[in-house]
Amino acid sequence: MTSTPHTCTQCLLHDQLEGVQINDKGICNHCADYKHFTPVGESHLIQILEKAKRKQKVYDALVPLSGGKDSTYVLYLARQRYQLNVLTYTFDNGFMSELAKSNIEKAVNKTGVDHIWVRHDPQMIHQMYRTTLLKSGEICGICGVGIERSMLKLSEAYQIPLILLGHSPTEANSFTSENIYDQARLKAILRTNKSINEGMVNRFLIYPNLNFISSYIYTLMGKFGKKINLLYYLPLPSDHEIGVLLKQEMDWSEPQDSQYTRHFDCHAEPLTNYVRQHRFGAARRLPQLSNMIRNKEISREEALKIYEQDQAFLQPKNFEKVLSELDLKIEDLEKITQIPQQVFSKEVSQTNRIFAIARRWVKK
Ligand SMILES: [Zn+2]
Repeated sequence: MTSTPHTCTQCLLHDQLEGVQINDKGICNHCADYKHFTPVGESHLIQILEKAKRKQKVYDALVPLSGGKDSTYVLYLARQRYQLNVLTYTFDNGFMSELAKSNIEKAVNKTGVDHIWVRHDPQMIHQMYRTTLLKSGEICGICGVGIERSMLKLSEAYQIPLILLGHSPTEANSFTSENIYDQARLKAILRTNKSINEGMVNRFLIYPNLNFISSYIYTLMGKFGKKINLLYYLPLPSDHEIGVLLKQEMDWSEPQDSQYTRHFDCHAEPLTNYVRQHRFGAARRLPQLSNMIRNKEISREEALKIYEQDQAFLQPKNFEKVLSELDLKIEDLEKITQIPQQVFSKEVSQTNRIFAIARRWVKK
């Protein structure tokens, strides 16, 4: 970073983040263009759910469960509000907190659903995390792809018509256009490690030749379940209100040491935030908290306080445990934070590139 960053007077974003500009009134483009979240509408959702129920499969919907707030809330809605027959599963990424595991246990018991643990060979997955972190500065790509592929496989195996995702409208925007979930890019990164062979990569990817187009066609054909962002259809309660509801209805617990609890389920998350902070100029919290300010869930002062608390925690000494799990040292971490942006971006697959552009265009 060269010059001093200018920070928006309404939220916490600054102009050294990708795609952020501050206007002459001191307001960023995200605040200036802000439109309050308008849900698609429950009637649309009910139509989709009814259509799935009419198929009379063993399960109407698959719900990926991380033990965090959003996915537990989706399970609550699917079971208690819409009475769907649900299969849940959890991709055990090896970094799950005990609290997340106990939340999953309680949510599954409370709702009486079937639940599947998905877990790869720990040594293989360890190599993959370590390699992507060392070579591309990212660890979340492996987890994201692992979650996605197992959801497709389970929806195919059990012929489940819907996959209900817990992506929150307030989590949009991460300030990097790095395509960390792209399969071709991921394969190129993993190829740099000779001890990861093609068989391992294929085992991990489950569908090693899948791309946006084939995935889209398989979904239309009904081979894969249709992904629905459930939280986009309904008025969204605040982070705090969801927490209160889940404690009452799902025996859910949240960590005591943080007021902001969205990703406590993964104990590698602070490390990823530290790396992002250095590589992109912001950890995930900055856009999340800025979204919460715009949604009037918290004031700028409260957000700033939470952000400063977070910053105080983002110190290399706090990552010793997770670094040693990855066979890495503090010195490796410093090297990782210096990996340039857009590393391996030339490897992103052509079909994915074209399809992403087309999709953006259609959305407009
Ligand atoms: Zn702003």
